[in-house]
Amino acid sequence: MMTCKDIADFLSEYLDRTLPWSQRLVFRLHLLLCRDCRRYLDSYQKTDHAICQLKDPGTSQEESVPEDLVKAILAARRVQATDSHPL
Ligand SMILES: [Zn+2]
Repeated sequence: MMTCKDIADFLSEYLDRTLPWSQRLVFRLHLLLCRDCRRYLDSYQKTDHAICQLKDPGTSQEESVPEDLVKAILAARRVQATDSHPL
């Protein structure tokens, strides 16, 4: 059985669809039962989306993501939003 820590560990693989189906099943089952992990997944996806948009100035920013959260994650990843280097 997966724990909440396992969910956090497997989250990126789950989103990349690289988990075996049996793992995905257990993963989804845990999400059904665990509200905390559902919220975690939700915020993870929103944050990921927001970072993609920050990297691409051509698209508008996601309004539902708190600015502080985005800044904190950008700082953690040492991504410079103001970096002028072309991607
Ligand atoms: Zn959980």
